[in-house]
Amino acid sequence: MEAAPRYLCQRCGNCCRWPGFVRLERGEEERIAAFLGLTPEAFVNEFCELHPNRQALSIRSRPNGECEMLDGRNVCRIQPVKPRQCAGFPNAWNFPGWREVCEAIDTAR
Ligand code: SF4
Ligand code: SF4
Repeated sequence: MEAAPRYLCQRCGNCCRWPGFVRLERGEEERIAAFLGLTPEAFVNEFCELHPNRQALSIRSRPNGECEMLDGRNVCRIQPVKPRQCAGFPNAWNFPGWREVCEAIDTAR
């Protein structure tokens, strides 16, 4: 059985609003496009850009830095099919100083 995640997301939406790149893994654009009722081509044209590493697509950001898939302050339009990068934060990956911006509860404390 998979271990329960240590950090429990509080859906504050902060990680969807700070500037950065939401990288898509192979096959994710098809899954997200189907969820939105779009063809993969339409989804890519409307919502994606080339990741700076030039080896993947990422979801486009708005001028204020937030993700194009964010609805209001903390609702992800594609929550059931969100990219693995989003689903993995902060348990599978994080970065120095992430605790200052993430409101997840630490179940180990
Ligand atoms: S895809 Fe959804 S979970 Fe990921 S950054 Fe965008 S709004 Fe947030
Ligand atoms: S910043 Fe942390 S608590 Fe807030 S939505 Fe992202 S993962 Fe969840």
